[in-house]
Order: sequence, then structure tokens, then C-alpha cells
Amino acid sequence: MLCPKCGKETSRGLCIDCFLEDNQIGLRSIKLKTCPSCNRFMYRSKWNENLDRFLERIIRENLVHHPDIKIRAIEFESEEKRNRIEIDINLTAEYRGEKFETMLNSSIKLEKRQCRDCSRRSSGYYEAILQFRIKEIPTEKDVDPRYVSKVEKVKGGFDFYITSLRYARQTAAHYSGRGYKTGESPKQAGVRKGRRFYRFSISIKEP
Ligand SMILES: [Zn+2]
Ligand SMILES: [Zn+2]
Repeated sequence: MLCPKCGKETSRGLCIDCFLEDNQIGLRSIKLKTCPSCNRFMYRSKWNENLDRFLERIIRENLVHHPDIKIRAIEFESEEKRNRIEIDINLTAEYRGEKFETMLNSSIKLEKRQCRDCSRRSSGYYEAILQFRIKEIPTEKDVDPRYVSKVEKVKGGFDFYITSLRYARQTAAHYSGRGYKTGESPKQAGVRKGRRFYRFSISIKEP
């Protein structure tokens, strides 16, 4: 049978080339916030690490194509420019059981914006103080520096000022899982924008 549009030999209906001409495969327009301080990026309302490794998933989830086309494989090369990532995508796909390859050039916009953790840290904000009173000095493996606004050496240990209460509790839970004694005390710290707010102290002690 011949393609009704171009006359090329085809199994049925439009040939692949004519079909793709009418039903272009594209990439949705994407804009990612990236944090200049920690290099994380926002995708689907979450801050994620390592954009390079994530890129294939972003491409896969944002390809737009006719339902008769099944994407089989995605290969791509990407290059980061100042405020965008340019991507050359090589797609292997199927149209009515027939395999074909096609190229697609697209880009993802980048918008530099400090994430909440980094902006809190740089303004000195904190929600909790982790009071380490243990022999072992906490390292970056124990307390992620991204959540630390300040560290103070105090009698018997260190106070870590933590930007997120949730993270402080998680960290304490890790220590408690390793046998350390932990305890949390609510502490009123003041009024902000007419609202009372609390800051918490969580102590971590030797078993
Ligand atoms: Zn055709
Ligand atoms: Zn950040």
C-alpha cells in the first residue's frame, strides 16, 4: 500500500515520516529552579540532588507524543549554558509496530533561586538546637552542613543550630538508634510577625 500523502510504500495508512510531520514529538516546556548555594534543583515541588543523573527521568516524563507512538529508548546529550540546558535527544520509538529513530532538540530553562534551607542558613535562622554532649565530635556525615546555620563550642560539647526541626529530629533519632540518650524540650523563643514561635532544644548524650 502507498502512503496517501507522499506515495511512499507503507504497511498501512500514513508512512512514518508523514505521520510524524502531522504529529510531532516534543518536549513540554520545563523551567527548573536551581539553588546556587547547594546545587539542588526543584522538580515536582521537591528539591533534588544531581541534575545530571535526573535528566533522563525529566525527559521521559515530559515527552509529548501521539498515543500511537511508543517510546522505546531515549539517548541524549546535554550541555548546560548560563540559564538553560540544551539537549539533543535521540529517540527509538515504534509506530504501529514499526520501529523508527528520530532526533529532537530541546532545552530546559534554569532559574537560579536559593532553596529554603540555604536561605534560612544564610540569614542565621534556626528552628532547633542540637546539643551534642558526647565524646565523638559530629562530622558532616552525622549532621548535613546544609541544615546548619551555626556551630558553637560550649562546655561539654557542641551546639548545632539547625534550620529545620524535622531534620534535627531525624538526626537525633539516628543517634538514639545508635544507643545515645536524646531528649527534646520546647522553648519559647519569641514573637515573629505577630506570632509566637518556638525553638526546640534536643540534647544528645552518652548512653
Ligand atoms: Zn508519507
Ligand atoms: Zn540550597
